[in-house]
Amino acid sequence: MPAAAYLEKLNPEQRLAVEHGAAGAPDGGPMLVIAGAGSGKTTTLAHRVAHLIAGGADPSRILLLTFSRRASVEMIRRVDRIVGEALGVRSREGGVSLPWAGTFHAVGARLIRDHAGAIGLDPQFTILDREDAADLMNLVRHELGLSKTHKRFPAKTTCLSIYSRVVNAGAELDRTLGESFPWCAAWKAELAALFGAYVEAKQAQNVLDYDDLLLYWAQMAAEPALAAALGERFDHVLVDEYQDTNRLQSSILLALKPDGRGLTVVGDDAQSIYSFRAATVRNILDFPGNFSPPARVVTLDRNYRSTQPILSAANAVIGEARKRFTKNLWTDRTGGARPLLVSVRDETAQASYVADTILENREAGQLLKQQAALFRASHHSAPLELELVRRNIPFVKFGGLKFLDAAHVKDILSLLRFVENPRDRVAGFRTLQLLPGVGPAFASRALDAVAASPAPIGALAEVKPAPRVAEDWALLVSVVSELADAGTGWPAEIAAARRWYDPHLERIHEDAAVRQADLAQLEQIASTYPSRQRFLTELTLDPPDATSDEAGPPTKDDDYLILSTIHSAKGQEWKSVFVLNGVDGCMPSDLAVGSSDEIEEERRLLYVAMTRAKDQLSIVLPQRFFTHQQSARGDRHVYAARTRFITTAMLDRFESVGWPAAAFEAGARKPEAQIIDLRARMKAMWR
Ligand code: ATP
Ligand code: MG
Repeated sequence: MPAAAYLEKLNPEQRLAVEHGAAGAPDGGPMLVIAGAGSGKTTTLAHRVAHLIAGGADPSRILLLTFSRRASVEMIRRVDRIVGEALGVRSREGGVSLPWAGTFHAVGARLIRDHAGAIGLDPQFTILDREDAADLMNLVRHELGLSKTHKRFPAKTTCLSIYSRVVNAGAELDRTLGESFPWCAAWKAELAALFGAYVEAKQAQNVLDYDDLLLYWAQMAAEPALAAALGERFDHVLVDEYQDTNRLQSSILLALKPDGRGLTVVGDDAQSIYSFRAATVRNILDFPGNFSPPARVVTLDRNYRSTQPILSAANAVIGEARKRFTKNLWTDRTGGARPLLVSVRDETAQASYVADTILENREAGQLLKQQAALFRASHHSAPLELELVRRNIPFVKFGGLKFLDAAHVKDILSLLRFVENPRDRVAGFRTLQLLPGVGPAFASRALDAVAASPAPIGALAEVKPAPRVAEDWALLVSVVSELADAGTGWPAEIAAARRWYDPHLERIHEDAAVRQADLAQLEQIASTYPSRQRFLTELTLDPPDATSDEAGPPTKDDDYLILSTIHSAKGQEWKSVFVLNGVDGCMPSDLAVGSSDEIEEERRLLYVAMTRAKDQLSIVLPQRFFTHQQSARGDRHVYAARTRFITTAMLDRFESVGWPAAAFEAGARKPEAQIIDLRARMKAMWR
């Protein structure tokens, strides 16, 4: 076969990375592709996987780790297309299977379940999301009596953050407290006791939190008896966005592939934005030296995504970074306008500017899908969301408030989780306390009995509640047995769960009708999963994105605008990008104006946001914006200045405009109350 057409599209460096160790030597040595934004790292990874498969590698022995499920779905689609092109078939139709792809957490969950027996875990374990984990932390804290005697003890979410950082960074509690949570350092002994009890509680209840999905995987992979089942089961392990992995994740890779053969990682240190989750840029910088001989390092220097004006503005911003390994990129897309710096009066004006421009772009032929509004924190998009709803512009929001966080959705999921694993205390507590008259003390005693019994449902039936609770209790026992009975089957179970929940929903919530619509949607989502267990696991690890459409997530053919936090926009690209709130206080966030490391991370965030744009980039600067930090006068609005990352010396790379020009010049201001009112309405929208 002549050099395949898909290889000819690549530049020489990309091709080198794609073909590394492929021909005749399927287990080439370790490789690192390190390069700036839009240089084709992800493209190279997809081509490499496809090239390996086209060359005869067994797809079921290839593992592809991505940062989000969305990214893994997209990657598989690309691999499928290239393999199809190479072999002249659509791989699925041609009977060629596809590689394993997913996030570290999702792959971890699956491998742990597969090998649970070997590490003494019950494979029926359930997974706690962050909120559940914080609730369990709180339960344990109460049991230890830390809440009664220690009023100023750190909040449950802070405790969980500390615990999580210790686990993910592989650091000592002492050091973690000193470096990241100095205000909690006085509680070291109590925290250590709390974390010990938290780990015990998880084990007793057969539940795993997110961190466990990595921790158990890392420990399993390091176990010689499991090496064949884990490390040797994959010939190739490939990782995208490697700059945002943490110590625990790098230790998993090293345990899977101690000599690095078949290991490929790609990333960009200038885009490292997850240090708050213990990600460390050291992983990518230290990667080559982990192996002997050291890993092959491939760098890419051509950007295929953005026009030259966008790229040079982004290069200027990142050029001021204190430390950076990747070099500036070049592009031959020399045309195009300079990025806009758009001054607007406030966030309301920002919303109208973005909505107006998006509609103009659509008139000019750009789909909504080809445009995105990006922001630092999820709540920053609230005024824009409201404006979009008002104008009937459909949108999907990534990285925002999740559908699953709604109380009624959690109630149904807790019941299912309790059925799946009756020892899951957070789920059990939530379910039992839905019954009027059942409080924490009684629920706790009942759950103790359930957990101690080899026949949990029988034990639940034998609990003797107060007479006024007896009827509801009997109904609960009956639905739990019905769901646990394999006869009901999935997804019919969820309808049964809803029937049971209905009267509670009506009783608890005034807006029951709206919530019913959510539950109907949940039922619809459930029907796309093969089993209760897969549904619970995958939904917990990858909750659906929020959408403006009551009918649920849009289908492939719908056109909708993308709203995304910058963190969730990683790896993606759009023709037009609007960066909201490009002002000091948002970028850098006023929460980050602490250490210089934090400030540097905020600079990288802006760089990530800017480099998402292909053709058009607007950074919007509201002169006033809403902040959660109250000033001494109780004012929650601050007058903001352009982000410090765009210095005066860089201004010639941008075009500065005011919008709307007339109003801007007149300096007219809207009354403050209007913005506050918008916030309240947005909250109501999410209930
Ligand atoms: P990021 O750092 O943002 O994750 P990346 O380095 O992963 O970016 P890709 O997303 O792979 O970059 O590629 C950016 C764009 O460049 C995509 O639209 C991709 O199709 C295009 N591209 C990559 N390589 C080539 C090439 N050799 N020829 C033409 N287009 C390319
Ligand atoms: Mg990428």
